[in-house]
Amino acid sequence: MMSPFAPTGTGWQPVRATDLRAAGSPPGTCERCGRTNIRFIHLISHATLGESLVGSECARRLCFGYSPEREEARLRKLWQRQSRG
Ligand SMILES: [Zn+2]
Repeated sequence: MMSPFAPTGTGWQPVRATDLRAAGSPPGTCERCGRTNIRFIHLISHATLGESLVGSECARRLCFGYSPEREEARLRKLWQRQSRG
């Protein structure tokens, strides 16, 4: 299966977004800017730099064309459905 995300100019590619609340984990910290209390953490990957866990702002800045909000909206909906059922 092809990745739904196109390669980006910075070399960073989004891997997946995680809803830490739904996962039962404490809020996360962005590894790029140090921002704390992050509910939605984005795992991004670089061919030579490896992987990094970042908040939505850094994910959007590093991954050109990536829309963290869309992923977060999807996860939010998923979580609402799960907590209802
Ligand atoms: Zn950040």
